[in-house]
Amino acid sequence: MNGVRAPYAADPARSRGRRHPEPGPNNRSEYQRDRDRIVHSAAFRRLEYKTQVFVNHEGDMFRTRLTHSLEVAQIARTVARTLGLDEDLTEAIALAHDLGHTPFGHAGQDALNECMQVYGGFEHNLQSLRVVDELEEKYAAFNGLNLTFEAREGILKHCAVKVARTLGDVGERFIAGTFPGAEAQLANLADEIAYNNHDVDDGLRAGLINIDQLREAGLFREQHDLVTGAWPKLAVRRVVHETVRRMIDVQIKDLVATSRAEFEALGPADIDAVRAAGHACVHFSADMRERTLELKRFLRGRLYKHERVDRMTTDARHKVRILFTTFMADPGLLPADHRLRTREAEARLGDAGRARMVADYVAGMTDRYAIAEFERINDS
Ligand code: MG
Repeated sequence: MNGVRAPYAADPARSRGRRHPEPGPNNRSEYQRDRDRIVHSAAFRRLEYKTQVFVNHEGDMFRTRLTHSLEVAQIARTVARTLGLDEDLTEAIALAHDLGHTPFGHAGQDALNECMQVYGGFEHNLQSLRVVDELEEKYAAFNGLNLTFEAREGILKHCAVKVARTLGDVGERFIAGTFPGAEAQLANLADEIAYNNHDVDDGLRAGLINIDQLREAGLFREQHDLVTGAWPKLAVRRVVHETVRRMIDVQIKDLVATSRAEFEALGPADIDAVRAAGHACVHFSADMRERTLELKRFLRGRLYKHERVDRMTTDARHKVRILFTTFMADPGLLPADHRLRTREAEARLGDAGRARMVADYVAGMTDRYAIAEFERINDS
């Protein structure tokens, strides 16, 4: 039933709390406050100028990390309301899930990870947590946004056990092999639904894939048949949108029905029972899972590895590598406040401290700032 809180929903009145104790909020719940802090963060604003698949300056019509995150939040909230989960927490996790992404999408992250191999690596999920725990500088009494445990748990989607041991409470589940709350599970799937479908739309718009190719994927083909059957003379852009919106709809319907049946069978008394269930409670049916994987395989082969995307990727890797190695070799080139922080980290942790500060600086860049910094370095 809509609007009725499920017993296993995250309860803002029973949060495991914040790392730095604060007085409770006045006119909003703890999770609303988390969501609002994310929206007001500098890292959130920078998502506007970061690549999702296409580099930000390639065109104004494509998704950026910001519009992607808004689409994830929209899908996640709809399902949260239907399943009686906490909408505000779901939205907070969805809006924050990509805060740790480097410029230039996955190409940037791969390059930075290679540069950071000897210093503990670089992983965007971990970096998203680092942004909300450490890197935002807004509050007098603490670093970061001081979010609730439940939001932090959702933001840290993946984590190696070795790293988890260094993270305290939020790393425990990776060691124990338990799950996060349902809101976190949902935000994760909403991310998948959003990018699988909007990448179809963006890929077609960019002319990198075409409808005939896309019909290899059953999820697209079935909805495309329905749309063109009902409106044989519809203009192509409308056919694409009508098809993609139906694809999103069938995935959401499947997710809601499967998850609802899962909750009914398990009957979790509270969020801890969801965490301890031994398997995810929010998921697709086996059939829909297979169909989404088929679409993913299609996008990987035909879009993400397309030679035009690939050229952009090679160029992006090169820029990120040069930015990292240049600042690593000469931290004097960093902006003054970051230079100071780097000196402090180096005094505490040596080269690894310096490398982490340089990685934070590079990861925080927008696409266009990274390009400008790259050009500045090359000119000096
Ligand atoms: Mg995402």
